[in-house]
Amino acid sequence: MDLSHLDKKYFIDAHKYNCPFCKRNHVSFSLQQTTDFDWSEKKKCYVFIVRCNSCQNESLHFCYEDIRATDFHGSPTSYFRDKLDIDSKMFFSQPSSFFALDERIPREIRELIFESEKARQANLLVGASACLRKTIYELLVYEKVVIKNEKTGRADYQASIKNLKSKFQSVAPELFDALGDIQELASDNVHEGSWEAWDSPKLRFIIELTKATLHEMYVVPEERKERLGLLGQMKSAFSNSKSTSSKNEEEK
Ligand SMILES: [Zn+2]
Repeated sequence: MDLSHLDKKYFIDAHKYNCPFCKRNHVSFSLQQTTDFDWSEKKKCYVFIVRCNSCQNESLHFCYEDIRATDFHGSPTSYFRDKLDIDSKMFFSQPSSFFALDERIPREIRELIFESEKARQANLLVGASACLRKTIYELLVYEKVVIKNEKTGRADYQASIKNLKSKFQSVAPELFDALGDIQELASDNVHEGSWEAWDSPKLRFIIELTKATLHEMYVVPEERKERLGLLGQMKSAFSNSKSTSSKNEEEK
């Protein structure tokens, strides 16, 4: 399965990004405003406000370095430096992701995902990992698919995910399989609270995987319904116009 779309970036280069508001990819942005403040006695923090040139909405980004390009006098310009992995420099962004979650996804699940994402961006990896595990567990509870292990009385994570998979048969099974393959998600650990933090790239991947799964579960079927509803309207409009035109034929 191709999961490369999960690894999408916020900033593609110094001029293009994936807009978190209008959700257009490869759209141009302008660095609208830059300011800085003292994060601590020895550390400065730079704050960048970026505006989408398509929808005009502005996002906020925090960075410990001034990543603007400089002119020949050495003064900062209103562009980021070229050939820089901008995403890796920003430690906090609002909105937190290009893939803002659709409101059709249950609110409690959305809030947990956001919390996990914010924690990851601030490099609070234990918190982000714990929060993501909770997201998955709450999703299983929300869909009433939790299967308990008879011996331990605890949720059997693998069996519950399988249960979820059979409940959502229109969703690509690979997505659930991938979630099920994340061994460290096992519910035993959730109960013990002795969590090992995932590293940042792995966390990012699991967060994006979870979001893609949620999108397939709650958004895609609704969009399909809307399209079919539209098709029904078009059909009836078409048959109406056909009957009026045939009437006209008869009147002639
Ligand atoms: Zn936009």
